[in-house]
Amino acid sequence: MASIWLFILVFTAIACGWLLGRFASGSSPLPGGAGKAYRDYFRGLNYLLNDRPDEAIETFLVTLEVSKETLETHIALGNLMRRKGDVERAIRIHHNLLARPQLPPLQLQRASLELARDYISAGLFDRAEQLLLDLVQGSEELRAISLRHLIEIYQAERDWTKAIETATRLMPRRNFFLSAPEPDPELDSAIAHFHCELAQAALEKNVFDGARAHLQQALIRDPKCTRASLLQGLLEYRAGDFQAGIDALQRIPQQNPALLPEALDTLRACYDSLGKRELMAPFLRQCLTQYPSTRLALAIAEELGHRDGPEAANQFLTEQMRARPTLRGLQHLIALQHDKVSSTEILQTLMQKLVLSKPAYQCVRCGFSGRQLHWQCPSCKHWNTVQPIVGSEGD
Ligand SMILES: [Zn+2]
Repeated sequence: MASIWLFILVFTAIACGWLLGRFASGSSPLPGGAGKAYRDYFRGLNYLLNDRPDEAIETFLVTLEVSKETLETHIALGNLMRRKGDVERAIRIHHNLLARPQLPPLQLQRASLELARDYISAGLFDRAEQLLLDLVQGSEELRAISLRHLIEIYQAERDWTKAIETATRLMPRRNFFLSAPEPDPELDSAIAHFHCELAQAALEKNVFDGARAHLQQALIRDPKCTRASLLQGLLEYRAGDFQAGIDALQRIPQQNPALLPEALDTLRACYDSLGKRELMAPFLRQCLTQYPSTRLALAIAEELGHRDGPEAANQFLTEQMRARPTLRGLQHLIALQHDKVSSTEILQTLMQKLVLSKPAYQCVRCGFSGRQLHWQCPSCKHWNTVQPIVGSEGD
């Protein structure tokens, strides 16, 4: 960060110096008088050399007349302010650029885009939205990036319908004469999640048909959308179609086997309601051979305990932990042992604390970790990047 600071400031200093030199040597007189501009320039340089960047920036902004040549530097300084968290000053710098109708249209539009980004950083979504909608209408070059920022705003406002509409406008249109457009899996996956959000809201109000329609849309956009299958399982369970619920949840091993443990409660409830609980363990065993997971092993142990008694569960879990020991599995194994020796109790309490202190999920993109599954990473805002942590301290 510090190096970017320094780089932009030094760049600004050089730009100022060069432009002043050009004005002074050319025939055109320097606006406001060459003498004053030179004095301001050296004042800015002095601030920079004395490690007072804020004053340096202020001085350069005054010295550097806004023109076609200096616009990039003004935009860069405004952006620097935004990244530094001084959004108010960023807005002032970028807003000032828009008051120059003599600038070429594309440059004005770029300033407008930066101002919209400032407004987003400040949480002034209404103002940002208006600027971006104008850019979508008026600028072919900035249309795509403006639509992406609009999606960002609608996500923050949880306006999923507008997010879907906007994302759909971003999708490349199929041209009859040209080959099919490049697919954008990340965009498809985001649209699928927007439909899931709407489905979840409908499900909470028991509007089953509406929820079902959104989940179908989600799976058309992204056939690997695990969240849609999980919600479909829950929806069909609540609607009383238990077999449809099981069918939806049994798609998950093909979509993302790491998330099958999230489906266990609903799956068990569906099998129970159908009176076919004995079919749960064989399905899970088959999944376990494809994807080793402590939570799956624990669910199988529970089924065995339910059917054949605690000894069967104990034996199964012991075998599993010998092959692939994990903290969570071991903690349950100790709990299954009936021998209540005090040291075992202490050990179990300790392990329970250890397990609870470990994050269970992590974002593969930015490394954010936590105890809860997030479909959209709270840190980097990407969809589908949070996964269960595997290994001895995880699943
Ligand atoms: Zn992340």
